[in-house]
Amino acid sequence: MRAPRRHDVIVVGAGNAALTAAVAAHDLGASVLVLEKAHRATRGGNTRFSGAVFRFAYADRAQVLALLPTPPAEEIDVEPYPPDRYYADLVRVTGGLADPVLTRVLVDRSLETVRWMTGLGVEWELSEIFGVRDGARRRFPPGVVLQTRGAGLGLSAALFRAAEGRGIEIAYEAKAVRLRLASDGAVLGLVVREPTGTREVDAGAVILASGGFEANPEMRARYLGAGWDTVVVRGTAYNTGEMLAAALEAGAQPFGQWSGCHATPVDATAPPVGDLRLTDKTNRLSYPYGIMVNIHGRRFIDEGEDFSQYTYAKIGRAILAQMQARAWQIFDQRTVPLLEERYATGRPARADTIEALADAMGVPRAALVEEVRAFNAAARGGGFDPGTRDGCVTQGLTPPKSNWAVPLERPPFVAYPVTCGITFTYGGLRIDEDARVLDTEGRPIPGLYATGEITGGFFYFNYPAGAGLMRGAVFGRIAGEHAARLKVEAWVPR
Ligand SMILES: Cc1cc2nc3c(=O)[nH]c(=O)nc-3n(C[C@H](O)[C@H](O)[C@H](O)COP(=O)(O)OP(=O)(O)OC[C@H]3O[C@@H](n4cnc5c(N)ncnc54)[C@H](O)[C@@H]3O)c2cc1C
Repeated sequence: MRAPRRHDVIVVGAGNAALTAAVAAHDLGASVLVLEKAHRATRGGNTRFSGAVFRFAYADRAQVLALLPTPPAEEIDVEPYPPDRYYADLVRVTGGLADPVLTRVLVDRSLETVRWMTGLGVEWELSEIFGVRDGARRRFPPGVVLQTRGAGLGLSAALFRAAEGRGIEIAYEAKAVRLRLASDGAVLGLVVREPTGTREVDAGAVILASGGFEANPEMRARYLGAGWDTVVVRGTAYNTGEMLAAALEAGAQPFGQWSGCHATPVDATAPPVGDLRLTDKTNRLSYPYGIMVNIHGRRFIDEGEDFSQYTYAKIGRAILAQMQARAWQIFDQRTVPLLEERYATGRPARADTIEALADAMGVPRAALVEEVRAFNAAARGGGFDPGTRDGCVTQGLTPPKSNWAVPLERPPFVAYPVTCGITFTYGGLRIDEDARVLDTEGRPIPGLYATGEITGGFFYFNYPAGAGLMRGAVFGRIAGEHAARLKVEAWVPR
C-alpha cells in the first residue's frame, strides 16, 4: 500500500452531483481530488445518459427565458412555477413522504443553483422532451422548460470542463471501497482500489456522490424485490452501491424508500445497460396519448392519470408486474404526430386493423379487439387537448383513462413494445440541510457529506421529472461549500 496523500476535500464520483460539489469546494480555496470509478471514456455516471431536464422554480416566463443564450425562435408558453408549486408537486407525487426540510432546500435554492451553473459554463436550451407543439407555439408544462445544451452529454462535458479548467485532479479507474474513520468516528479519508493496487487517501472531508445501487442486480433484488434483478438499466453500469453500503457500515443512517426506484417504460429491445450512443433515446413517454396493454392484450394502468412527467417514473414498476415484464403502447394516426422524437429509434408493429395489429404484436387477437372496443366505447374524445389535463375521461372503464381518452379509430395503428428500465434508486443516506451525512442517532458524521442519488428522503413511489439533477446540483454546491470551510490549516497525520 502506498503512503497516504492528503486533500482538503475528496469527492467520490464524477456525475452532476460530484462535479458541482468539486467545483464549489475548489472555488472556496480547497484542494480537491475527484475519484471516478469509470474509465475516462465512460466517465460521468447517469448524468451523461440523462435528458438533462432541470426542474427549478421561477416567477415567470421572462425569468426562464433569460437563462437561454439567445431568445427562442418560436412562441413559447410557460406558466409560472413559484417555489410553493414546486414544493407541492414534490409532496403530491411522493404521497406526502418527501422530507420537508430537504425538499424546502431543493426548491428554494433551485433557481439560484441553475444561475450558478450558468456561471460555470453550463448552457441551457428548451426541453426537447416536454414541450407540446400547438401550431407555431410550444406549450411547456410548468417546471420543466429547460434542459442543458446537448442534454446529458453536454451537461457532463460542461461540468468536466469547469473542473478540469480549474485544475481539479480527477483520478480515473479509482474505485472508493471504504471510509477510513478516526476512533471518534470522524472521517479521515478513503481506501481506493485502482488497477495498480489499493491505496489510502487522506482528506479533510469526503463527499459521497457515487450514485445509487441501480446497476447492482444483487442489491436490486435485495431491496427492491423479486424481478428487479433482471430489469434494463437505463444508465451507467458503475453505480453499484458499494460506497452506499460502506457509509452504512461506517454508521450512516439509511433514509428514504429503500424499496423504491425510478423506473420508466423503455424500448423492449433496449440494451441491458445504458449505451452512450443511445443515452436516453430508448425512453417511451408518449403513452398518455394512447393505450398500454400487456402480452395478453389487456390494459393495466390509467395511461392518462397525468402528464407523463408526473407518472413515467412509476410506470416501469407497473410494466415489471406484467407477464414477461412486457407491454405495448398503441396509438392511431390522430395521436402518432404527438409522439416524442425518441420513438423514431423504435420499431413498432403496424397494421390497418386491430386484428392484424394483434397478430403483428403476437398478442391474442380476440382479447385485443375486445379491449380496444371497450376502450373506444368508453372514450368520449370530446375536448381532446394534448397540452392540458383535458379531463377527456373514459366512462365506466377499469382501469379508467383520466385524460386524453380518444378512441383508437384512425388506421394505420402502431404498437411499440416496451419493458421496465430502472433509472435510479430512491433509498440512500440521510443528510441534513448542509449535506452532512447523519449517523443512526441523527448526529452529523464529522467530515462526511453526500449529494445526488446516494442520498435518500427526497423521492418515494414516484418522482416529478427533472428533480434528480436539480437535487444533485443544489446539494452538490452546498456540500462542496460546506466541506471547503472545514479546511484545517495545520493538518497532522493521525
Ligand atoms: C437515461 C436517463 C435519463 C435521465 N434524465 C434525467 C433528466 O432529464 N433530468 C433529471 O433530473 N434526471 C434525469 N435522470 C436521472 C439523473 O441522471 C440522475 O439522477 C443524476 O445524474 C444522478 O447524478 P449523480 O451525480 O448523483 O450520479 P451519477 O451521475 O450517476 O454519478 C455517479 C458517479 O459515481 C461514480 N461511482 C460509482 N461508484 C463509485 C465508487 N465506488 N468510487 C468512485 N466512483 C464511483 C460513477 O462512475 C459516476 O461517475 C436520468 C437518468 C438516466 C439514466
